[in-house]
Amino acid sequence: MATSPKQRPFVLDPLFRSVRGLPGIGPKLAKNLERLVGGETLRDLLFHKPIEIINRKVAASITDLPAGQTGSLVLKVERHTPNPRRSIPYRVDTQDNAGHVLTLVFFHAHRDYIQKILPIGEEVLISGRIENYQGKRQMTHPDYILPLSEKDQIPEIEPVYPMTQGLTGKTLTKAISAALEQVPDLPEWLDNALLTKQKWPNWKQAIQELHRPKDGAALSADNPARQRLAYDELLSSQLALALLRHHTKTTHGRQLTGSGDLRAKLRAALPFTLTSAQERALEAIFADMSEPKKMLRLLQGDVGSGKTIVALMAALQAVETGAQAAIMAPTEILARQHAQSIGTLCDQIGVKTVTLTGRDKGKTREALLSQIADGSAQIIVGTHALFQDSVIFHDLGLAVIDEQHRFGVHQRMQLSEKGADADTLVMTATPIPRTLTLTLYGDMDVSRLDEKPPGRKPIDTRLLSLDRVDELAASLKRKTAEGNRVYWVCPLVEESEKIDLAAAEDRYMALKDAFGDRIGLVHGRMKTEDKDKTMNAFANGELDILVATTVIEVGVNVPEATIMVIEHAERFGLSQLHQLRGRVGRGSAQSHCFLLYGKLSETGKARLKVMRDSEDGFYLAEKDLDLRGMGDVLGTKQSGMPEMRLADLENHRSLLEMARDDARLTVEKDPKLSSERGEALKTLLHLFDRSKAIQYFRAG
Ligand code: ADP
Ligand code: MG
Repeated sequence: MATSPKQRPFVLDPLFRSVRGLPGIGPKLAKNLERLVGGETLRDLLFHKPIEIINRKVAASITDLPAGQTGSLVLKVERHTPNPRRSIPYRVDTQDNAGHVLTLVFFHAHRDYIQKILPIGEEVLISGRIENYQGKRQMTHPDYILPLSEKDQIPEIEPVYPMTQGLTGKTLTKAISAALEQVPDLPEWLDNALLTKQKWPNWKQAIQELHRPKDGAALSADNPARQRLAYDELLSSQLALALLRHHTKTTHGRQLTGSGDLRAKLRAALPFTLTSAQERALEAIFADMSEPKKMLRLLQGDVGSGKTIVALMAALQAVETGAQAAIMAPTEILARQHAQSIGTLCDQIGVKTVTLTGRDKGKTREALLSQIADGSAQIIVGTHALFQDSVIFHDLGLAVIDEQHRFGVHQRMQLSEKGADADTLVMTATPIPRTLTLTLYGDMDVSRLDEKPPGRKPIDTRLLSLDRVDELAASLKRKTAEGNRVYWVCPLVEESEKIDLAAAEDRYMALKDAFGDRIGLVHGRMKTEDKDKTMNAFANGELDILVATTVIEVGVNVPEATIMVIEHAERFGLSQLHQLRGRVGRGSAQSHCFLLYGKLSETGKARLKVMRDSEDGFYLAEKDLDLRGMGDVLGTKQSGMPEMRLADLENHRSLLEMARDDARLTVEKDPKLSSERGEALKTLLHLFDRSKAIQYFRAG
């Protein structure tokens, strides 16, 4: 969602200038800088927050600065001891007023230079980190050495930023200072009453204060400037969501009431009756779809709570009216699995389904596209391949998006654009805490499947030290001989995918001795075909044990699998563990889950115990949030969670709620943002690249 410069208010232009125009930033440094701040503009640079301060206030005496601390001192240069060889440092002894000695140490020093900046007998201002070396005070490579006349060049309080290789703190600080000089005055988009009540500065002051902290306290989340900036960011995202919702709700939708025929047929074909939670969700969905407004509903249901059938019933309601329904899954495997289970049921009731994923190429793809375009395909199951421009629906009435947290809001917008007035049902298996729901979905209508299909036995969960892995393998061998099927999950940590993959491969090889050709391995780097082949072999019983990286995480349904082993369980979040564990316990047999742990911290231990003692996904999600904090609950990248740069959701949760209310009220009163404040809010949306939301009322 890059801003088009044409629509962007001119007042923002300085902030969208390239960092490449800043003094001291050549092409090579610019690359590093852009990587560090995650963007190419001055705005991106200015959104890079300091995380610490260095106090460079001049201390009275060396003794005021303990070793390890950074500080500044006025020192008299006493003696030079030049380096006889390159391998030995150049030393300069100095003294403070009281005669305490501090030695300055320079490796690979240029003699002339040192002598020039540290003339014997003169007083200089030195700033840097004090060390203890063999009982003496010294400072290696001071950060600053200045004649007293230039004393003011040292900031008393210096902000410290997260850094990257190939960039020095000084370069970054200089670039930020230069950027700060170009910061324009922006129209105030916040309500005056709010500003007064919170004692928040205006935006320009806030961004300046962010980079010129007065003391350590200025870095805390409740500093007014930081709060203001965080609020702006949260407000921009809540406002975008509120506008999207308003647009969806007020755009004329179609009445997809349907005769009920196909749904009745499906009910008759099902080998079970729907749970009352499923019935309740369906009632709400049917009501939404029957209204001449667009539906925007979130279906939250724990793993195994039976969301698929709810989606299918909704799809049938659309099909009954002659419209099409699309069901989107986040991965190839899941799309195929949906296609299979939905396809089997639809065949029985005479509804035509097709499946489109990125794997379909050439003639097959052409044929599928034409069935989608001419309407002969009634239900279309697929992956994000359905977003592509070449996919044209004959008449899309309903878009179901499964496992939504894997898609961004942006993609949701894309799909609903495929059918201008299509209803949208979003499904997620991650029981998301309330705060996260807000951030991800704004104010959607929500149905919860808070009841599992009957006949499921609780999963017996045990914690086991990794030392006992051989013992476990032996007992699994006996279990599989009795007909049980086992998932064995190895963690995949992004930083070192290769190493982790190697770990999964090692585990596979180690277990292969015992399980022979009844063991399979799947991981994210495999070709889709190979992955599917192995998954299928496991699903239909050709394999007893499946070693996997987290690719099996979402949705995959193998009711015969009764044992889940999770290696290095301490590396997963509770929600993720819960999702993984949910792969078993789907049939009527007793299921087991073994959480194998390596090194455990206190929190780690607490988390695994919570996991052992509860199977309630919503409870686990809330606990996860308490124990690990927001950022970690759903890996940001995977979650499609909008990345927050200024707001920190752990500490700014209350601001989020305020922003939600603010956004909702604003859109209610001024849906086209045409008031004075509304105009200023448009600037805010552009500032945070959320201007796409503006398009909604332009078009509508
Ligand atoms: P999820 O919510 O995780 O997507 P699924 O839709 O895959 O769950 O359903 C899990 C399993 O439960 C499937 O095998 C499905 O056929 C079965 N199921 C769904 N609803 C019911 C029900 N009301 N009674 C019994 N089994 C059900
Ligand atoms: Mg599912």
